Amino acid sequence: MEWKKDQKIRVEITDIGAEGEGIGKQDGFPFFIKDAVIGDVVEAKIMKSKKNYAYARLEKVVIPSPFRVQPLCRYHKQCGGCQIQAMDYARQLKFKQEKVRDHLLRIGGFPAEEIDRIMEPIVGMENPFHYRNKALYPVGKDKEGNPIAGFYVGRTHSIIANTECFLGRKENKEILDTILAYMKEFHVEPYDETSGLGLVRHILIRNSFSRGEIMVCLVLNYEGKKPEALPHQDILLERLANIKNMTSVSVNINTEKTNVILGKEVHTIWGKNTIRDSIRVRNMETPDMEFTGQELEFEISPLSFYQVNPLQTEKLYSLALQYAGLTGKETVWDLYCGIGTISLFMATRARQVYGVEIIPQAIEDARKNAAKNHISNAEFFTGKAEEILPRFYENGEDFSDLQTKSGCDMRHPDVIVVDPPRKGCDEKCLSVMLKMAPSRIVYVSCDSATLARDLRILREGGYELKRVRPVDQFGMTVHIEVACLLETPANYEF
Ligand code: SAH
Repeated sequence: MEWKKDQKIRVEITDIGAEGEGIGKQDGFPFFIKDAVIGDVVEAKIMKSKKNYAYARLEKVVIPSPFRVQPLCRYHKQCGGCQIQAMDYARQLKFKQEKVRDHLLRIGGFPAEEIDRIMEPIVGMENPFHYRNKALYPVGKDKEGNPIAGFYVGRTHSIIANTECFLGRKENKEILDTILAYMKEFHVEPYDETSGLGLVRHILIRNSFSRGEIMVCLVLNYEGKKPEALPHQDILLERLANIKNMTSVSVNINTEKTNVILGKEVHTIWGKNTIRDSIRVRNMETPDMEFTGQELEFEISPLSFYQVNPLQTEKLYSLALQYAGLTGKETVWDLYCGIGTISLFMATRARQVYGVEIIPQAIEDARKNAAKNHISNAEFFTGKAEEILPRFYENGEDFSDLQTKSGCDMRHPDVIVVDPPRKGCDEKCLSVMLKMAPSRIVYVSCDSATLARDLRILREGGYELKRVRPVDQFGMTVHIEVACLLETPANYEF
């Protein structure tokens, strides 16, 4: 049977797509239906029909799924940030566990029995709302010309006013309302993408959960004298300073006509340049993932990359540390190290850690963070992992000073940790890792599809997958973080 546009269908949703959409089948033909929850029986209208599948629009939930819940946010359908907010949290976790399993099976080529033997249950969140420590709100105007802040309607650039995102901190609302009221009072114009005119483009808020410190950064389209970019700045600063825990207020200059949100230049206009956050080390072998009493402190600036879910980050990094199996004697490489968070975790238990990261500013931060935590056994290198690693491996003498200083065999580390961006590791990087032949590889991933692709290469290179554990860092969304441990089988000849 051929399916046509505008045709109505009635299906039971039996699966979940990669973007969180419901999938229902009729005579084996799959329909992808956004906002339908697994277990629902729905009526939908076909929007686009292809040879082997079709997209349909949800018209009516005829029988609601037992996994369907009332979303907290009334904008969840339009926003698109929380693709699965209408799904019960326990079912979300099951979906993520299965997603990782499925990728390992289909893309990684691992046998089902092997995955089921080694895969550990996903580490869920205690409270899957208000978990983010960073929020970025686009600023625009409503129909009456009043300044608004909110979110872009999924895949568009029109802004819906909403200062109450359920993933962000509750205190963000007061900050946004203060800035918007000031803008209205002093006729400070929001930036307009089409004309390129107007001043305020975005508002960035970062919160430190451990210290309660708050950072606000206004992204401005401004070319004049930077510290006085805002009209009646003193009044705004006085009001922001009155908000509990306000620690840092800055402006970021972005005059480019692009989708890139933050420019390169930041000027602090009130308070400190950074906020502090601590990440505690947990013992992931205990049922309650108990704290070990050890913690590391990090300075975060408006432009730093920093994990967005601090409570789950503790668990993820602690898991990586556990998988690394350090005893104090090991040489460790941490590739894609950002501001050195995982590197410093490793440094607490290793002999020596070497971090590699492409962004120079992040490496500067990593060095400062090491010093701040009195860690002297971590060195950092700026560059691409796939370039730095071969330089060391293929021309180790270049770095003989470092090698002598630490007394470690940098070319043959005990452990290599990688935490690449979504696109995964470069093939060159993986091939040099194989040549370096560490006894353990810890792979932390934010995309299970590229993870599975890379694990296949490492397995073909002689490594065995020993442990896999997803950690939910992004409740209500389809994203998932995974930690894996690979080891060389005993006596394996490289
Ligand atoms: N481990 C860190 C950062 C992980 S995000 C943390 O948990 O905070 C991935 C990092 O890889 C980013 O900081 C990004 O700048 C960096 N990166 C991207 N491509 C890279 C490459 N080819 N070589 C090295 N680092 C890279």
